[in-house]
Amino acid sequence: MTGRPTVAEVDLVAIRDNAETVRGRLGPGVRLVAVVKADGYGHGAGPVARAALAGGAEALSVALAEEGASLRAQGIDAPILVMGPTLGAQAAIALQAGLETTIYDSVSARLLAEAAEREGVRAPVHLKVDTGMGRIGVAHDGGVLDMALDLVRQPSLHLVGLMTHLASADAADPQSALRQWARFLDVVDALRRAGIEVPFVHGANSAAALRWPGMQGSQVRVGIALYGIAPDPVSVQLKPALSLRSAVAQVKRVGPGFPVGYGETFVSEDEAVLATVPVGYADGYRRAFSNRGRALVGGAWARVAGRVSMDQTVFALPGTASVAVGDPVVLMGAVGAEAVSALDWAGWADTIPYEVLCGIGPRVPRVYRIREEGRPAASVDADFLASL
Ligand SMILES: *Cc1c(COP(=O)(O)O)cnc(C)c1O
Repeated sequence: MTGRPTVAEVDLVAIRDNAETVRGRLGPGVRLVAVVKADGYGHGAGPVARAALAGGAEALSVALAEEGASLRAQGIDAPILVMGPTLGAQAAIALQAGLETTIYDSVSARLLAEAAEREGVRAPVHLKVDTGMGRIGVAHDGGVLDMALDLVRQPSLHLVGLMTHLASADAADPQSALRQWARFLDVVDALRRAGIEVPFVHGANSAAALRWPGMQGSQVRVGIALYGIAPDPVSVQLKPALSLRSAVAQVKRVGPGFPVGYGETFVSEDEAVLATVPVGYADGYRRAFSNRGRALVGGAWARVAGRVSMDQTVFALPGTASVAVGDPVVLMGAVGAEAVSALDWAGWADTIPYEVLCGIGPRVPRVYRIREEGRPAASVDADFLASL
């Protein structure tokens, strides 16, 4: 039950369709791994995972063991890879939930091997190679082969994947990504010559998977594109899945000189209509949007007036506007041909769509919709429908 009108509406058909669109760009036999870390980039990991699987994703990946365990608890049995470090008690969590984990040095390998022995299982692991990202990963020119040979000798570990991550897949200049991919292929070759074949070789995120088919490897790890945001500079038709909606709580018709909000950073110059909306930075409607953001209030464009506060934001419309309490407010999303995008939000806050999406707070209920445009509802997998 949600009473407050501020909700994030997530269109699961859009997510399923985006997965299908991405799949259509993959080479034969390339597996789509849907990245649902950070609660599905703020959309809700469980429903997003089901929608992506319905759209042809064959596996999932998350950043933390806990995120993977939560998907298992929601009844999702697809393969799940933990891409981030698995530390301390996370090893047991990962193994008990049947997750694949990422190993990046001898310490992380030992932790997993010991936990696997305790749990009495053989832990499926991916070896992460640092080819230029500089985060977790064994250096591409620093003993990867020895590390892999050591891994395959350990009875409690099963080396199933070799992975890397690109630092600049969305840069206009492809040189850096090409260099990283060449280093990665050298490592794959060296292992192969030593008799080590791994089923999954992967390094592409959304941008790389869509820009360079040659970097798709045997699977791609796609996040942002699933949520409907085309990674720069790829041109692909995707459907944004999330809209943030609310409703007008109070309307004030004011003359010139009317101050609004903390610090009185907005003072009306003219007659204006001010609409107070119950959304604030605690919901992920960021303070950086103060006097910058725009929204559709009762279908008309309005501008944030004054500072966004923790729980309320005021929007200004021209004095001629007709706005009433209860009118719908679209903070992100579309109304007819007009739309506010995650990219708009990112621009106002000098950041990227990823950060604004996963910043939508836990206080905002996620409401799931299945909106079919010109397609029979039956094209949605029956189990998927039943799961909602
Ligand atoms: C988040 C993440 C991805 C997905 O990136 P997108 O740009 O959202 O497609 C892929 N691989 C790793 C290692 C990640 O951390």
